[in-house]
Amino acid sequence: MSKFWSKVVHELTPYVPGEQPKLANLVKLNTNENPYGPSPKVFAALEAEVGDSLRLYPDPTSERLVQAVAQFYDVPATHVFVGNGSDEVLAHTFQALLKHDAPILFPDITYSFYPVYCGLYGIDYQTVALGEDFEINIADYQRPNGGIIFPNPNAPTGRGLPLAEIERLLNANTESVVVIDEAYVDFGAESAVGLVAQYPNLLVTHTLSKARSLAGLRVGYAIGQPHLIEALIRVKDSFNSYPLDRFAISGAVAAIEDKAYFEETCRKVMATREALIADLQDLDFVVLPSAANFIFARHGTRSGAELAASLRERSIIVRHFSKPARISDFLRITIGTDMQSQALVNALKEILTP
Ligand SMILES: *Cc1c(COP(=O)(O)O)cnc(C)c1O
Repeated sequence: MSKFWSKVVHELTPYVPGEQPKLANLVKLNTNENPYGPSPKVFAALEAEVGDSLRLYPDPTSERLVQAVAQFYDVPATHVFVGNGSDEVLAHTFQALLKHDAPILFPDITYSFYPVYCGLYGIDYQTVALGEDFEINIADYQRPNGGIIFPNPNAPTGRGLPLAEIERLLNANTESVVVIDEAYVDFGAESAVGLVAQYPNLLVTHTLSKARSLAGLRVGYAIGQPHLIEALIRVKDSFNSYPLDRFAISGAVAAIEDKAYFEETCRKVMATREALIADLQDLDFVVLPSAANFIFARHGTRSGAELAASLRERSIIVRHFSKPARISDFLRITIGTDMQSQALVNALKEILTP
């Protein structure tokens, strides 16, 4: 009965999220969730919200959370926008700041939600090919554009871009907004938040889904100068006045305030990542340098599709992208616990032993 659909729905190509299998005992390394739970302080904050106040709407401005984010980064509260997951923050960003006459630019291999937002909002885009080693080359972005967006570190490659390169891009591109999606930055890349005060064209987005282990709570934020934040607020208040519920606001505040826990879990993930890279290299994998909580690796002789299928038979789920051809032999493997890493390495040894 698609005759009832609007024209825009007919033309959409929705994003396909990584699988969330219902099976128990899986080693789930496919959607870059954190293997460690959120800060215990988050649970206490959530429990405190259970009560009569659920009758009432939450604070439409999520003021407590805005303040917590501002304090964490030592920026003014007027530089902070919060939303229902960074996917929502990104959606508002595309509509509010990236829809202009000129096409926006993003890498040919990157977060696959970006072209989906372009389809939803009717935004023209051009992709810019990554370099030979899957790196972002700033020089390739020096052409007229309606905006530029990429993750740092990039996904699904995991490669980080030095801050000096981002600064070069900002200086060469003063007439449109540059969005740096820092979903994975806390696992070893350099954040651009410190550049916000200096660059009126910079917006940095973050999520609590990865480094703060709260993918289930749906909280993200953006940091930029007040004129950019105001554009996001205008879109938000034309769409949903209460994107963050009472649990999300309180849980997120507790997570952001528990800096010690956050730093400790990030350190553990990074240590496991380095050990896993060494193990995979011993098994004849080529692994791209990673500043994220995942790695992007291909085997010297076996195809990516075959390896992903063989791992699945052993209850280990990793992400495999069949397109584009250039990455079809790669596996994107989320960093789990040391035990999960060991299970992965053992399974690969079994698969690779003739
Ligand atoms: C995970 C991810 C997001 C989305 O995060 P949510 O806050 O869970 O919506 C955004 N950008 C990139 C590059 C991601 O990998």
